[in-house]
Amino acid sequence: MNIAIVGAGAMGCRFGAALFTAGYEVILVDRWQAHVEQINQYGLSVENEDGVHQVRIKAVAPECINTPIDLIIVFTKSVDTEDMMARCQAIIDEDTSILTLQNGIGNLDILARYVQEEQLFAGTTTYAANLQGPGSVAAFGSGYSEIMHMGGKRKNGAEQIVSLFQQAGLHAGVSENVIKSIWEKAAFNSILNPLCTLTLSSVAQVGSYSGISEVIDGMLNEIDLVAKAEQVDFDKEKVKQTIYRVCHPSMSGNHYSSMYYDIQNRRKTEVDFLNGAIWARAKKHHIQVPHLSLLYHLMKILEQSACRS
Ligand code: NAD
Repeated sequence: MNIAIVGAGAMGCRFGAALFTAGYEVILVDRWQAHVEQINQYGLSVENEDGVHQVRIKAVAPECINTPIDLIIVFTKSVDTEDMMARCQAIIDEDTSILTLQNGIGNLDILARYVQEEQLFAGTTTYAANLQGPGSVAAFGSGYSEIMHMGGKRKNGAEQIVSLFQQAGLHAGVSENVIKSIWEKAAFNSILNPLCTLTLSSVAQVGSYSGISEVIDGMLNEIDLVAKAEQVDFDKEKVKQTIYRVCHPSMSGNHYSSMYYDIQNRRKTEVDFLNGAIWARAKKHHIQVPHLSLLYHLMKILEQSACRS
């Protein structure tokens, strides 16, 4: 089986390196030329609890690969999914399976424009990673990925991907309801990421504000209404508990959200696939979401200014 990681940022490199080290044929596909060149010249540097490892995996620009791939794992930022899929059409045929483990609501709709539903797999992951520079990734801690087949034939496809992951030391299992998990993760990110970004605060600083429960509860109630209208089995209490646990100063330390760093680096954020995606669905169902809407528009103004200057 050959595997392509489309979007070899922090997470793509972490998963790609694990699968490659386990003996699979893996190629990293990315638009960032300096990153691709660094990996091909010196290998991918992966730092984890055991030290720093040079992984001799190969990387390529999307335009430079045209071999059909058995399994594509999409790990672009959501905002780049469409562009990368358009550039990667030469590696997709009717036997290709595509898995997204990205954050956000809407990636599946984009992928469904490129393959049949039976070729599609979706999931969420609690693994984390950070790019330290071109060709260098920090991959600390462990995690778990849940994966589901989106419909049609290839019914045991999710089990096969889970087994592949497990052989690479990546904990994983088959999901019964991945849309629920995607929404719950999106709710978490829609609340904490813009709050940290707009207030220039760490997660702990946001969590230690005395009035924070009013903001969190207000947003969660709105997301719950939209999820119900979309017939998503959303567990508001579970998301609330996760947010309060992560926000607790003893838990999150000085951690800043990835959205905060995207703005600092003048890069587009995933807000359109988080607050924006839920806001659009609220409009469709004529549901008022004032908290969510305000945070969304403030983030869009900030993103516009950051990416223009
Ligand atoms: P990332 O920001 O590390 O990389 C995304 C893309 O941006 C890659 O194509 C990368 O090459 C490019 N890029 C990064 N820095 C660049 C630079 N300086 N110049 C030019 N291009 C650059 O993205 P990620 O954190 O791997 O996230 C991928 C997906 O996984 C997202 O949907 C994210 O929400 C999700 N996710 C991330 C984490 C995490 O810990 N990073 C955890 C769970 C889910």
